[in-house]
Parts: sequence; C-alpha cells; structure tokens
Amino acid sequence: MLRQYELVELVKAYDPGINENLLNKAYVFSLRAHGTQVRESGDPYFSHPVEVAGTLAELKLDHITIAAALLHDTVEDTVATLDDIEKNFGEQVAFLVGGVTKLSKLSFTSDNAAQAENFRKLVLAMADDIRVLLIKLADRQHNMLTLHYIKDPNRRKKIAQETLDIFAPLASRVGLQNMKEKFEDLAFKELNPQAYESTYNRLNNLSLSSDEPIKEIVDDLKSVLDKANISARVFGRVKTPYSIWKKMLTRNTTFEQLCDILAFRIVVKTLPECYQALGILHNSYWVIPGRFKDYISTPKVNNYQSLHTAVISPKYQRMEIQIRTEKMDMIAEYGIAAHWQYKQNVHAHDGTQYQWIRSLLQLMKQTNNPNEFLENTKMEMFQDQVFCFTERGELIVLPKGVTPIDFAYAIDSWTGDHVSDVNINGKSMPLRTVLKNGDQVQIITSESQTPLPSWEEFVRTGRARARIRQFLKQAEKEMADKSRENEHKPEEDRVERNIMGGDITEDNIIKG
Ligand code: MN
Repeated sequence: MLRQYELVELVKAYDPGINENLLNKAYVFSLRAHGTQVRESGDPYFSHPVEVAGTLAELKLDHITIAAALLHDTVEDTVATLDDIEKNFGEQVAFLVGGVTKLSKLSFTSDNAAQAENFRKLVLAMADDIRVLLIKLADRQHNMLTLHYIKDPNRRKKIAQETLDIFAPLASRVGLQNMKEKFEDLAFKELNPQAYESTYNRLNNLSLSSDEPIKEIVDDLKSVLDKANISARVFGRVKTPYSIWKKMLTRNTTFEQLCDILAFRIVVKTLPECYQALGILHNSYWVIPGRFKDYISTPKVNNYQSLHTAVISPKYQRMEIQIRTEKMDMIAEYGIAAHWQYKQNVHAHDGTQYQWIRSLLQLMKQTNNPNEFLENTKMEMFQDQVFCFTERGELIVLPKGVTPIDFAYAIDSWTGDHVSDVNINGKSMPLRTVLKNGDQVQIITSESQTPLPSWEEFVRTGRARARIRQFLKQAEKEMADKSRENEHKPEEDRVERNIMGGDITEDNIIKG
C-alpha cells in the first residue's frame, strides 16, 4: 500500500504546484473514516481507496481527482456525508465523490446484451464530469484485481460479467487500452476458466513466456529502421489470452493461424516518419494482405491514432505492428487522461480546464465509420432520455421529464392503470415527481386504484396520456349510463348487475 508521503510525492512529480495539504487531509480523513473496516481479502478497507488513488496518479490525474479517489467510498460506506466532504475539501472534490457514489448505486443485472449499451450510456450520462468515470474505472480495476478473494461464486461471476459488458467498453471509449485489456483478461479468467487456462498454456508452449524471441524481433526491426535513419523506440509483447481467444472465435481460425499473438509498437518522432517507417517495413518483410489500417488519417472515436499492419517476421512468425508518434502513443496509453498532461492548467478555475471534454465530444461526433456514426447519433439522442430501473434492476428508457405514472405505463397498461404509490430509491415520493437518471422506481399497485384526471396534467409519454384519456372517457360514459339507469331502475337491479358484471373497472367506479 502506498504511504501518505509516497502518494504525495508521486503526484508532485508531475504536478509540482499542487495543494499538498488537500491530499494529506484526504488521506487522513479516509483512513479515519474507514477505521477498522476490512475487505474480503482481510486487508484493511483503507488499502482500497489508496490503490485507486495510486492508479489515477499513474495516469497523472490532477490532485482534485486524487483527493476524490481517496475519499470515493467514504459517503457510501462510512458515517461521513457529502456535506462533510464539501466542508473539508471544497466543492470540486465533493462533486466528484458525489458522482462516484451515485454511480456505485447502479448495478447491471440484466442478461440482455442489448441493455448493456443502454447501461453504458447511463453511466456516461451520470458521470457529468469525465473524472467521475475515471475514478469509477480505477475503482473497478482494483475490485477486479482482488476479485478472487470474494467467496460467493455467483457474486464473482456477476462482477466479472458486468466488467466485461460495461466497464471494458467504457475504458476503451475513453482510450484506456491497458485497462480495457486488464478488465477483459480478469473477467475472462473468472467467466471461462477452462478457455483461459488453455489459451494461456498454449501461449506458454510457444515459449513466448521468455522475452528472448520478442527481443530478437525488436532488434531486427530497430536495425531495419536504423538503416533508413529513423530513430525509433520499439516494443514487443504477447497479446492477452482474452484477445487471442476472442479472435479465434470471431475469425473462426486456429491458434496457429493467428497473426495477433505477437504485437510490436514502433514510436517515431514525426508524423511523416510514421509513413516512412511503414514503407520500409513493407519493403523488408512479407506483408500479410488485408491487415493495413490507417488510423492516423482516420482516427478512432476515442482519439486513437496509429498505422496498423501485419507482416511475417524473419523467423516466420506472423506479427502485428503499430506505428505512431510520441504524442499519439501518449493518447493511446492514457486516453482522455493524456489531455490533463498536455493541456490542463491546474490553477485555472474559469472552466477552461474542461475544454478538452468539449473537444473530445466534438471529436466523437466527427467520424467516417458508419457504425461509429450511428453510435454518435445515439449518443446525442440519449441526452433527451432518462434511464431508470425497476425494483428488479430492469432498465427502462424514457424521454426526459417523465413521472412514475409514465414509468408504470411503460411496464404495462394494467400497472399504469393501478398505480397507487411509488417508492423512488427506497423513499415514498409523490406521483408527479420527475424521474432522474439512475432512479430505481418501485411502483405500488392497488386493485381499487384507477387513473385520475389529475394524472393527465403531469404525464409526458403519449402512451400514458392515451391510456388515461381512454379510461376517463369510458368512465364518464359509464357514469352517464349509470345515472340514466338509476333514473329508471329499482335499487335491487343495480346491485345485482354489479355482482354479475364483476368487472374491476365498473366495480371501481361505483366505489368511487
Ligand atoms: Mn470503491
């Protein structure tokens, strides 16, 4: 576990102008608040927020984020309140802690893959500041690294599945490629231990576990580039078991046919050198056709830029090569977080430090890939939507401004017609309450309840309004019929008709 001064030194190393006092105070506050709490691993609970803060310090995030990371579980799990956080650490830290607390209440329980994308959007929508999402991702990373300590296998599986469905794609979307791969591999190991084991073992059998073969290829690549006077940093690695296994499934190839087992990265100084290096490699090695991609002229939505190609190594191994500049490499490694390192002025309090979030959103809008474009169109659409849950965790997406009555009609007409009360996030609330992102809505129905004219004033969805009108109209008509009947018919007749009719609707009108 990082000690207090180690963490402060780590942050000071990349951000010398920080308010040291804030970090020290946050460290001590969290330590005291978590007190004697322990994790399932037996470690003191406090080790968790410290690990999360450490991960974010590795991503070189600003000291506000690091302080918030130290405090991220205090409101959820200790007696500390958001007010305490704001009083002690200011508005910004409190805002981030509040955001993470809000996110931690979400739980993706559906098996429905289509709901996963909605859920990812919900997480994005709720993370009003992207730093909230970064803290949440670092939090998940530590929880995945310590997943094996959890004794209940069902809970382990649920967390692993959620990580694979929700958090790996989110990490990728903000450009945290390493984190995404970690998520996938740890989840893969939990969800499909046999496949993980066999892929892992086959990688070992290729004797790729030693660095020797990789080092030879790195040297070879370097010398080829050297001859053309291009100085470059070259790295090689074996790809992760999950990515190999997934490619075997999706491309329907055998382990031996894969060219993605070895991956090399060439980092050069300038953009023209990227293309020069590519030309040199294509001249020096056999090129595997169909694998060249230019993400420099057409960056990915998450801002990723690189040239990708695949060639046959001097030892007849198929290998993937990525070529990029230092700056592109930084963005590939740190994703959104890289912008903090490049552009952020820590002491700017005029909102300019959020400029990069806007430029990221701008970038996400500009893309040539039709699938990605569709994705972005959906992103825009979801800003007009609100994502809520049933008590069983089913996600229901509705337009903004809706009330529990709309929610009930979205479940089914019967539920809508019979809403008597509603609990939102466990609290009884008025039926005209406007629902917010992430609200868990428990509709309480009663056989005797029927739609009221006042509902029409505050429902937002056409479906709810149409049902209410239809019901009221019919009720009006029946009332009119009834009073006409009453003028002519004797008392006994009315009672009998009521018993015979047995219709809930009619029954209720008489009672009302
Ligand atoms: Mn946590």
